[in-house]
Amino acid sequence: MKKFVDTLRISITDKCNFNCVYCSRKFNKVDRKEILSFEEIVKIIKILIPFGVEKIKITGGEPLIRKNLPFLIKKISQIESIKEVSLTTNGFYLSEKIDELIIAGLKRVNISLDTLNKDKFKFITGFDCFDIVIDGIKKAKDKFSIIKLNVVLMKINFDEIFDFVEFAKENNLILRFIELMPVNNNLDIWKENFVAYTDAIKKIESKTGIYFLSQDRNTKYYLIEKDNLKIGFITSVREPFCSICSKIRIDSLGNLFLCLYGKPVLNFKELLYGLNKEEIRKILIEKINSKPLFRNYSNLPVMNIIGG
Ligand code: SAM
Ligand code: SF4
Repeated sequence: MKKFVDTLRISITDKCNFNCVYCSRKFNKVDRKEILSFEEIVKIIKILIPFGVEKIKITGGEPLIRKNLPFLIKKISQIESIKEVSLTTNGFYLSEKIDELIIAGLKRVNISLDTLNKDKFKFITGFDCFDIVIDGIKKAKDKFSIIKLNVVLMKINFDEIFDFVEFAKENNLILRFIELMPVNNNLDIWKENFVAYTDAIKKIESKTGIYFLSQDRNTKYYLIEKDNLKIGFITSVREPFCSICSKIRIDSLGNLFLCLYGKPVLNFKELLYGLNKEEIRKILIEKINSKPLFRNYSNLPVMNIIGG
């Protein structure tokens, strides 16, 4: 069966200024020379256009750490057929960099924030900078019409579900709870902290009505009656959405993944070194058509290198 692909999630650095308890960053470092250059990234995206790729999500590590990011965003935005360049960030550098990113062509941001409590923030991320992230969110909300706030659902923030609903409502954010995934080097944290999205729904139901609205790509959207607010759940663990996944991923080293839980199927850095774009596309046809319909948990992703 021919597989439909429209989104590329590309990690531009493994480095991060945070050390989130559930992520793989503190265990995995890579040689700087191996990281994709901007020139390589732009070449790869152009090669992928005929396969249907039209949305680019930039991730990391923390993508705002990479120098000259506005230059890369501008170059990607200028590629004919690219409809949207967005990025996912921990929010720390947002206040400082948002204007130049928008001028460069950034269309959307997803911001990750797992608690509204300063002490818990320090515990989860390893850094005492909650207020800086909140400033970034407040600045971003005035600049973008849509901002998704991604909250990894865990036992340590399960008591904050209603606080997040309030925060999202006040700041006009699209709130999405992500089920904690088992990834490279976090199995203990995962076992201790995993909460199924259905438990969050039950908790909300104990106070107000919550109704299923739609499944939009990787997100199940629900309406919270009391607040008249639409919120999402990314049910990666309990109800994976592999059969409708139209995303491919490239990690910061240039490895192509057809699934977050897959093995790399090729390395673009190596291919770009020896082959022209048509030769690379021939290899890609077969690879992309083998995009899996199911997840195989035997390959746990290294989150800070692949980028979620
Ligand atoms: N540093 C950026 C950030 O935090 O948004 C981008 C990279 S981060 C790897 C991308 C997303 O993956 C974040 O929303 C983060 O919360 C999420 N993430 C990381 N590890 C995860 C895990 N084990 N389970 C679920 N989501 C995870
Ligand atoms: Fe950094 Fe994002 Fe991983 Fe947290 S989740 S350590 S912010 S890459």
